Amino acid sequence: MKTLKIAIQKSGRLNEKSVEILKNCGLSFENYKSSLISTVTNFPLEILFLRDDDIPEYVQDGIADLGIVGENVIVEAGAEVNYLQKLGFGRCTLKIAIPNESQITEIAQLSGKAIATSYPVILEKYLKENHVNAEVRTISGSVEIGPGLGLSDAICDIVSTGGTLKSNGLKPFSEVMKSEAVLIGKEGSDLLPEVQELLQRIRSVLRAKE
Ligand code: ATP
Ligand code: ZN
Repeated sequence: MKTLKIAIQKSGRLNEKSVEILKNCGLSFENYKSSLISTVTNFPLEILFLRDDDIPEYVQDGIADLGIVGENVIVEAGAEVNYLQKLGFGRCTLKIAIPNESQITEIAQLSGKAIATSYPVILEKYLKENHVNAEVRTISGSVEIGPGLGLSDAICDIVSTGGTLKSNGLKPFSEVMKSEAVLIGKEGSDLLPEVQELLQRIRSVLRAKE
């Protein structure tokens, strides 16, 4: 039998639930400590522990057959992979937010404005769909401080509770994308019997949770 590889997040918001779902599938393996690869002892599978940003490309290029990652990261990476199964965790929403005192009420009013984000691909696509010509400023983190520093007129970032927005004097304006963790596969990997088997197990774990 072919030994499959599945890439999951090494540490962060998706790590624990990714490990949990694989364990609930009856897979036996050691959790990530310092080694990047863990071998499953009772299924032909190796687990690669990676930064989430690297997972879509690893799967697209076939270095891993499967991966568990947020839809936001897949779309941002522009990776061509198959979506095999939504996993029901890691839910979040990418939103545009504006300063509390902003007079903007319609999307069209974002034209000519600067928007700071770590998700330039997703944001550009959204702006294009809405016929808005805004300037996208890419920054890698802490985008919420942009408007306060005069770096941008708005931001586009992942919002869950809205606490970070509030403490930076921002309010949500529009929803750009909803995301959750998904199981992805490289093109054609769903035809492999081992992938079919794993997919069936994952689906029955998800059903049991309903
Ligand atoms: P890495 O070190 O692997 O690059 P990271 O810091 O980029 O990790 P995390 O903060 O661990 O990423 O988030 C991983 C994913 O969790 C996000 O891409 C998103 O899909 C999802 N997620 C769910 N809720 C949130 C949230 N409140 N904030 C950010 N991401 C969230
Ligand atoms: Zn990341």
